[in-house]
Amino acid sequence: MFSPGPIELLVIAVILALTLLVPIGIVFVILYALKVGPFSSRNRELHPCPDCGGQVSRQATSCPHCGRPFESAR
Ligand SMILES: [Zn+2]
Repeated sequence: MFSPGPIELLVIAVILALTLLVPIGIVFVILYALKVGPFSSRNRELHPCPDCGGQVSRQATSCPHCGRPFESAR
């Protein structure tokens, strides 16, 4: 008859851990996406620099990536 060895027990433990961790991970990913994702107000305050294309805050008076000044801020 089939008797589970340590490898089979490890595989079963990993599968059980994954079935528990995956839904929890999905919930955390959704919460993280809602908090800092593309739909958050924090990211809406960013715009790409016309010179280097880096994400720059609208409150910034100059690009932190290339140093380009923004005179038309806000
Ligand atoms: Zn720039």
